[in-house]
Amino acid sequence: LARQTSGNGVTRFDPETGLRHADARRIEAELWHALDKGEIHVLYQPQVRLSDRKLIGAEALIRWIHPKLGFVSPQDFVTIAEANGFIEQLGCWVLTRACRDALSWPGELTVAVNVAPLQFQRGDIVGAVRDALSQSGLSPKRLHLEITESAFLNPSPDVFAKMADLKALGISLALDDFGTGYSSFGYLARFPLDKIKVDQMFVRSLMENPASRAIVHSVKALCKGLGIAMICEGVETEEQVVFLKDIGCEQGQGYLFGKPQTSSDLIDMAEGAREPLPA
Ligand code: C2E
Ligand code: MG
Ligand code: MG
Ligand code: MG
Repeated sequence: LARQTSGNGVTRFDPETGLRHADARRIEAELWHALDKGEIHVLYQPQVRLSDRKLIGAEALIRWIHPKLGFVSPQDFVTIAEANGFIEQLGCWVLTRACRDALSWPGELTVAVNVAPLQFQRGDIVGAVRDALSQSGLSPKRLHLEITESAFLNPSPDVFAKMADLKALGISLALDDFGTGYSSFGYLARFPLDKIKVDQMFVRSLMENPASRAIVHSVKALCKGLGIAMICEGVETEEQVVFLKDIGCEQGQGYLFGKPQTSSDLIDMAEGAREPLPA
């Protein structure tokens, strides 16, 4: 990439993404066409039951390979898409793609789709989910939505209504990146959540940091009390698995179990066509 400088020779960065200002503007301009040009695709990262490492589902993660810029981080282009309004279209596309792909997976494997806070708050997320389910024919039991805490900051009555409508469709709701945002225990009781997804920040530091162990342990107690499931993301080592199983965490996701991969690779994994996971 050419170095982007302002007149005084200083590189300017986009405050939202930390990208070079010119790259951020380019991404913003070209994102609208990236879908049509087939530059955006979806990979799936395995989610396993920790007791026996059985594959139970996968999280859909979008990828954009820009012809000039190369790999663009989803964190960055989702932020940009939220700012320019493209998120609604992008979010609907991922939802439909993920439901269609999951339909060809064996058994009852679930697919978890991320929903950006803005798409949840402002967009017609209920309509988008209903359309994706009916167009694909996927059973709603197999669809999970991952929503971050910031979607529930100052929740309007509308947000409660949307959650109730989504639950009525028969899908599951997971709270993503738990512990990094605006954690308020108040809403946990009021929202119809099925699962809490503990942020990888806590998992990464489990072994070195007693505070992380205490936090993850108490989140498990919280989930148990609320009668909901717990999944830890960013699991990379056997030591972490031992600790997580020990405290009763049911599910895990991370490079130890598998990287984000194509739908067909996930099917191979589910059918045991590839190397079985280490016991
Ligand atoms: P997220 O939903 O919390 O996704 C987890 C991120 O952690 C993914 O990064 C995943 O590749 C990465 N990861 C998984 N296991 C490990 C591990 O063991 N170690 C480490 N170091 N990292 C791991 P990715 O794919 O870059 O996505 C980043 C974020 O972008 C996601 O965070 C999510 O917030 C957003 N995103 C991705 N796809 C979508 C999408 O389709 N829609 C929306 N709205 N946001 C998306
Ligand atoms: Mg997620
Ligand atoms: Mg997460
Ligand atoms: Mg995250």
